[in-house]
Amino acid sequence: MSFEVYNTLSRRKEVFRPIEPGTVRMYNCGPTVYSRAHIGNFRAFLFADLLRRWLEHSGYRVLQVMNITDVGHLTDELAGVGEDRIEAAARREGLNPWKIAEGYAQMFLKDLAVLGIQPAMVYPRASAHVPEMVEIIEGLIQKGHAYQVAGNVYFNVRSFPRYGQLSGNRIDETEAGARVAIREEKRDPADFALWKSDPNHLMKWATSFGPDGFPGWHIECSAMARKHLGDRIDIHTGGEDNVFPHHECEIAQTESFTGEAFSTYWMHSKFLQVDGGKMSKSLGNTYSVDDVLARGFSARALRFALLRGHYRQPLNYTFEVQKDAASALETLDDMVARLKRIEVGANDSSGAGSAGLEEVLRAREEFQTAMDDDLNVSRALPALFGLRSAVLEGRLSRAAAQQALALVKQADRVLGVLDSTDQDIGERIQARIDERELARKTRDFKRADQIRDELLADGIALEDTPKGVVWRRRS
Ligand code: AMP
Ligand code: ZN
Repeated sequence: MSFEVYNTLSRRKEVFRPIEPGTVRMYNCGPTVYSRAHIGNFRAFLFADLLRRWLEHSGYRVLQVMNITDVGHLTDELAGVGEDRIEAAARREGLNPWKIAEGYAQMFLKDLAVLGIQPAMVYPRASAHVPEMVEIIEGLIQKGHAYQVAGNVYFNVRSFPRYGQLSGNRIDETEAGARVAIREEKRDPADFALWKSDPNHLMKWATSFGPDGFPGWHIECSAMARKHLGDRIDIHTGGEDNVFPHHECEIAQTESFTGEAFSTYWMHSKFLQVDGGKMSKSLGNTYSVDDVLARGFSARALRFALLRGHYRQPLNYTFEVQKDAASALETLDDMVARLKRIEVGANDSSGAGSAGLEEVLRAREEFQTAMDDDLNVSRALPALFGLRSAVLEGRLSRAAAQQALALVKQADRVLGVLDSTDQDIGERIQARIDERELARKTRDFKRADQIRDELLADGIALEDTPKGVVWRRRS
């Protein structure tokens, strides 16, 4: 049994093997904080979270770094022209760009927590890593991979023979694309900027290249990955649009500088779409986490909707799809509640001995196999949901129910969608049940009925069984 991942670099699935046995170094391209991240962005970050959780489930220690791009990123990054998105937002909102970036960065971190995304080891800010970027740029100039024209520094793509390997783009095709907004000073239209000088830029630094410059977007990630994880890493992730130019350029810079392979595996998640097209800030068709919560969906239902499909399949988001995910989650909740009842012996019709154990073990194997196959969630989930009929038909013994619960809990350490407050809720409900029992014993039936009605109003139904009162969520 081994974990296989689809590597964009080789265009096939490969067995995952980290450089240092037992430890995984993973870098995730994070958000550019010029506006609030939308749920499309969070599909990419949830994929990274799922990957990290599965690696941990597989026994690895994961060193995870997700950057926050709080400087640079021009509207036409490839040509090295256009407007800085953060500064454009600053002008629009009448604030200084540092405030804009920090405000949206905080919002991003809050949304990550709401979605139950495990915190990375560090969320480095690009603005705090300029010396590390300058070190690489100076090294690239010395090695003949970069050149300076006035205050601008460009990477010479012809100096790196593997340029284009990740994306499959050829340099001459890239040249044609970049010619639209050609900068005469570039030796080759496909060369990309490492450093730009502009006295009018608001976020700027004095360096050996000039008094007021700022970095290109790609060098930011090369520098932050190297600073926090070292010259070589195991996994680099991003959304599909990061393949080119961003990751192609990162590879060229880092590998030209270190002389070593940068990342062994490059993994990219497909876009979240709306009405069949990309969800994107520039198209104005985005939803934030709050937009979805405001429609009455829970954060875990949103998480489930974004995680439920395989990350390499496009996902079309509608509120119908969201509703469907929410009700599937209720089904899972219901199954967990029923399993708990069998486990404590509240269900007399459950099978005896080891009945159903085989079926549970098979489900566990199916879940594991599907996840090991490039995180195939859409195949892993039916293994879990498939246990439902065994539960409903009373085919599970207490022992099997125990195993099934263990499986669901284990799966949920990876999926993170079950109600983690369940425990507290359970205790609270049990306290109300005890109160009602006491009322009944003292023949205060009015009070007992009142408690039952209050619980019912909260969606909790009580049931008298020979083994005592049990509760379940009304579907
Ligand atoms: P940005 O803030 O634009 O740099 O994007 C942050 C991350 O979100 C990148 O990894 C993008 O590839 C990813 N991303 C952007 N739009 C979408 C989308 N509609 N669906 C999935 N991922 C996206
Ligand atoms: Zn990046």
